[in-house]
Amino acid sequence: MMLMNSQVQKLYRLGHALGIDISIKRDDLLPMYMGGNKVRKNKYIFKELVEEKIPDIIMTNGGAESNHARVCALMAAEWGIDCHLVLHGEPDDSDYLHGNQFFIQSTGAVVDYVAPSCIAETLAKQKVEYEKKGLNVAVIPGGGHSVTGAKAYIDAVVELHEEPEYIVFASGTGATHAGIQAGVELRGWKTRVIGISIAREQLRGQQAVEEIYNELMGTYSDKTIEQYAGIEFNADYTQGGYGKYSRYSIQKLSWLVGKTGIAFDPVYSGKAMLGLINMIESGCIPRNAKVLFWHTGGLLNLQSAKKLSFFIE
Ligand SMILES: *Cc1c(COP(=O)(O)O)cnc(C)c1O
Repeated sequence: MMLMNSQVQKLYRLGHALGIDISIKRDDLLPMYMGGNKVRKNKYIFKELVEEKIPDIIMTNGGAESNHARVCALMAAEWGIDCHLVLHGEPDDSDYLHGNQFFIQSTGAVVDYVAPSCIAETLAKQKVEYEKKGLNVAVIPGGGHSVTGAKAYIDAVVELHEEPEYIVFASGTGATHAGIQAGVELRGWKTRVIGISIAREQLRGQQAVEEIYNELMGTYSDKTIEQYAGIEFNADYTQGGYGKYSRYSIQKLSWLVGKTGIAFDPVYSGKAMLGLINMIESGCIPRNAKVLFWHTGGLLNLQSAKKLSFFIE
């Protein structure tokens, strides 16, 4: 087990405004590679890789502003391992190098920008090319979406000192969600674990979490789980898809920043936090409940989000 111990802090002013007992787990402040949940996942994935054999080159994929790609590129650079990223979207053509792009470019990683439908093919082709040259290639799944990545979140739950009634966070590909759910159950807790979808619609998102959860729990078959309430994946707050947000939500996020002194971005943590606030205000989560919001990062997405000033009045 690898303990990272991000801190938990109470959000007094926000809790008072919402009539709730709310704390926040600061994975946005994990002390490596600019933080966020991709640090936890990739630390585990990387450890497993290098224990086998240190690769010559790491390949992975993601969006142009992928937090996962940034963490992989920085981790590889630190170790002196080459990195090849296959990203979908466009390279940033503005006068500024924003968010994750700055870090990705700084490492000197090779980057291919392709259409989403060409990612798998591009990765496979490039891998063969490198292997022909006798190089040892490690392909890390996009988003760090793997059982090893999810295990990092089982261990992360061990860091908590108290059992919350609710844990709420931004859920994307599902490994973080599966890990937290499994971690809660392995501690024998009754906590309700609610992932707020930042992009996927209900059915697909829920299935993705369930699949990796089942695979993950398969590796813990010696443990009997008494309490499995099912995966709670909430797709009511996607705001129309990945990276999409409204004027209203940016205004609400800037209010949140003022109430907490913490950065919330409109792509991940902020979107999830707005979902949580709505669940509290609409009574889905009762007043005075003990809630832990798990901040999974996103500061660099905030830095590269478009039209923020236009939205803030
Ligand atoms: C990737 C990411 C998530 C979602 O994590 P998954 O394990 O893919 O569900 C949440 N927040 C941030 C900041 C992320 O980068």
